[in-house]
Amino acid sequence: MNVLITGYEAAPFYKRGGLGDVMESLPKALSKIGVDVRVVIPYYNDIKKKYNFKEEGEFVMKFESEEDRIGVYSSLLPQTKIPFYFLDNKRHKFISYKRGRDKINQFASFDLAVGHFIGWVSEHHHWSPDLIHCNDWHTAIIPLILRKKINLSIPTLLTIHNLMYQGVGSLKVLDLLHMKDEETKELKRDKPATAINFLGEGIIHATRVSTVSPTYAKEIEQTERDHSLISPFLVKREQEGLGKDRRVMGILNGIDYDIWDPAKDEFAFHKFDINNWEVGKKDNKDDLLKCLGLEDRPTFCFVGRMAAQKGLDILIKTINHISNFNVNIIILGSGTPKIQASVLKIAKKFTWVKAEVVYDEELAHKIYAGSDFIIVPSRYEPCGLIQMIAMRYGTIPIASDTGGLRDSILNGKNGFLFKKGKSIRLKKAIERALSRMQNKEKFKKMVERAMKTDFSWDKSAVLYKKLYEEMLR
Ligand code: ADP
Repeated sequence: MNVLITGYEAAPFYKRGGLGDVMESLPKALSKIGVDVRVVIPYYNDIKKKYNFKEEGEFVMKFESEEDRIGVYSSLLPQTKIPFYFLDNKRHKFISYKRGRDKINQFASFDLAVGHFIGWVSEHHHWSPDLIHCNDWHTAIIPLILRKKINLSIPTLLTIHNLMYQGVGSLKVLDLLHMKDEETKELKRDKPATAINFLGEGIIHATRVSTVSPTYAKEIEQTERDHSLISPFLVKREQEGLGKDRRVMGILNGIDYDIWDPAKDEFAFHKFDINNWEVGKKDNKDDLLKCLGLEDRPTFCFVGRMAAQKGLDILIKTINHISNFNVNIIILGSGTPKIQASVLKIAKKFTWVKAEVVYDEELAHKIYAGSDFIIVPSRYEPCGLIQMIAMRYGTIPIASDTGGLRDSILNGKNGFLFKKGKSIRLKKAIERALSRMQNKEKFKKMVERAMKTDFSWDKSAVLYKKLYEEMLR
């Protein structure tokens, strides 16, 4: 079975969040169980600067009023035989940090390029995908483009990694694609159609829709409280019929055990495993605290994007109420300037709080290895990888009881869950964690249970393979 996977980012070439991890580790896991998988992402300048791949060829497509030349570059994913392709728009370079309308137009152009790339790869590399696996809004109009523009009837899977980001923009983007308004399903029923919702179009037109944890699948089907506008698209999908399965399938992400392994980690100060974790973690913690100028105390960390979803405001409020707890808090992240500023402010206020407002892969590894606990106060969390990574390093999660956090943490057994949204509840969960830490035997059991919890891709890759097979039947 040949599967082409596409999305905004893919580690190690370009990564800013969990999608980047998944786009590297899922293909690896699928390839191990016999799926012939290839990946295609934009050739951002950052990738070009770092890798400077050789051009394999180019094709031409019509976007706006001009002919765009699209360069095709490729590389094998390190230590594998999996081809990764990078598409370069020679007139309008693909740029990772574009915002607003520019971003919408850019991904419309990338999605069209992926549509044409299918023909290119089959002609030049003698490989044709049986199925296209799209991820998030950036690549969500590929099913629409394949059907209505390129006339290719290949099954498509759309995986939603975060429903909050939908890619809403002006319908004018259809002019750029030379498509007609009637071909999209505008859902503002009483008003003249003015907007296109990329993710919505994906939900309607993809053969199947999935998301990254069973609980998040239920949450997005059942409630519109946290998110906007999913059910109208699901209803439209059902009305469209075509024998499509209405259900949003939830498959929990895994983590790459080659990358996130305390026994092999080149970035951590010290390597360790389940048999010597007490010494290993202590050594890592000593070096981490020394490096950040912190005293030897129970140490809590946060690693992640600084976006409203991640609940840093809840963490900051809690920090203000735990100054008598005698702990350290380490925060690593980057994102919204307002959240970054409030994190820096709290770090200035308390000497026991350290903030690193950067994207730093190496420091992230050191923090996972050297902390006692990781705080994940997300308002919603489709899957979340940081709690899984932390557990593999014997760092106990204290997380909101939502989405993939609920599906990966057993409350009181390998971590702590608290009812999301309230700082008082987080404070109580921190108290529970500290009291567990004082009971050395019980805490040891908890750490070992966390380290042994299976977050490898083995189970989930099989579920994806089954879903692909179902779609091809
Ligand atoms: P999301 O996909 O919402 O960003 P996840 O928990 O699924 O969140 O994945 C986050 C990934 O990005 C993890 O691999 C984490 O280590 C990494 N990450 C996030 N922020 C940073 C940062 N500032 N520096 C290094 N790694 C980061």
